[in-house]
Amino acid sequence: MSATILFKNASIASAGQKELAVADVLIEKGRIKSVAPGLGEDKVGRVVEAAGKVLLPGLFDLHVHLREPGQTGKEDISSGSEAAINGGVTGIVAMPNTSPAIDSAGLVHSVLDIAQRKARIPVYTTGCITKERAGKEMAPIAGMKSAGAVMLTDDGSPVCNPQLLRHAMEYAREFDLPLASHCETMELSGHGAMNEGRVSYQLGIPAIPAISEEICIARDIQIAEYTGAHLHIQHVTTARGMEIIRRAKNDGVHVTCEVSPHHLIFNEEHVIDYDTHFKMNPPLRTPEDNERLLAGLIEGVFDVIATDHAPHTDFEKRQQDFASAPFGITGLETALPSLFHYYIKPGVFGWDLLVERYVAQPRNILQLEQVAVTETSVADLVLFDPEGTTTFSREFMRSKACNTPLLDQTLDGSVDMVLGGGDILLERD
Ligand SMILES: [Zn+2]
Repeated sequence: MSATILFKNASIASAGQKELAVADVLIEKGRIKSVAPGLGEDKVGRVVEAAGKVLLPGLFDLHVHLREPGQTGKEDISSGSEAAINGGVTGIVAMPNTSPAIDSAGLVHSVLDIAQRKARIPVYTTGCITKERAGKEMAPIAGMKSAGAVMLTDDGSPVCNPQLLRHAMEYAREFDLPLASHCETMELSGHGAMNEGRVSYQLGIPAIPAISEEICIARDIQIAEYTGAHLHIQHVTTARGMEIIRRAKNDGVHVTCEVSPHHLIFNEEHVIDYDTHFKMNPPLRTPEDNERLLAGLIEGVFDVIATDHAPHTDFEKRQQDFASAPFGITGLETALPSLFHYYIKPGVFGWDLLVERYVAQPRNILQLEQVAVTETSVADLVLFDPEGTTTFSREFMRSKACNTPLLDQTLDGSVDMVLGGGDILLERD
């Protein structure tokens, strides 16, 4: 049984509340017992002085690559979930592009079984839309749903065949599962390694045009409208793609979407030194896209912030040239400090937006119980020090990988303490 813990004078972050409210928060038996000023310290196992610190609900990441089974040199369920805790993330959703791909009830079951034994936070898994993610034949959706899959996706690849996608969406609707799309038109992407534009011409790197993503977003939305399925568009990177989604939402299509921190913070200009830490798919776009995506996040076009945490070994990322290196960067450990550093601290958006888009909405999409700093909520909590700093050194990382452009950089803000179900999962001195 977890101990009683009392946070004194914490600044509480909530969705829908612009100002942080200062109060004491008492945790008992894994849940929040009371939130009020001046709570007594009698019979409290542990008192944490939290004045000046922000107490927020644990983040929930809808897009994480844990690489198990099959690629555990990059990451595994245990190391990936520890990386999440290190970043203040207390729930994660695994993508199915493992080896073998998670495309059957048996594999869903085995991933959830490993998670149950090896992870200190809830780990959910998606299941493939098509067998082996090959885009040829539908995966057994009913079986994966009953084994516990929470969403369908072929992430890493689009489902190219519209007839197959249509049937998959009909099943997804029937089984009440969101279907998540990695939007890309393969004929347009070819062997591209970065965004097509001024920088790719200058560097002579094969490139992926924005329309590769935008055409697929438009197509998938039309199929969702036709079938009535819940479509979730993953890692949107272009302003025009975002506008297509905005229009569909206004038209009443059941579509949600996510943006990753790196597509807000970085752009194609960062690729100028051929640093493979800026290589991901979909690629970093233009500075104008950064600005417009950020505006879209603030306006609410984006439902969710998700990292697309994509670990790779040093060898794969560093010992290869830009065109040959794999796509993707890690994100679980850097997301919260970077969003604080670049946006919350300068006042671009508030803690309320972060809680709404990185806690409440992703849980809502999966129809999970909500977590908040309110009485009776599960005590999944993060104590964040806005006066602290974080240096993303190799020693800091709990992921097996450290393929992030923020490696060895120091940003403002620090995750001081993380609670999961009332247990202290992390405490930094
Ligand atoms: Zn993807």
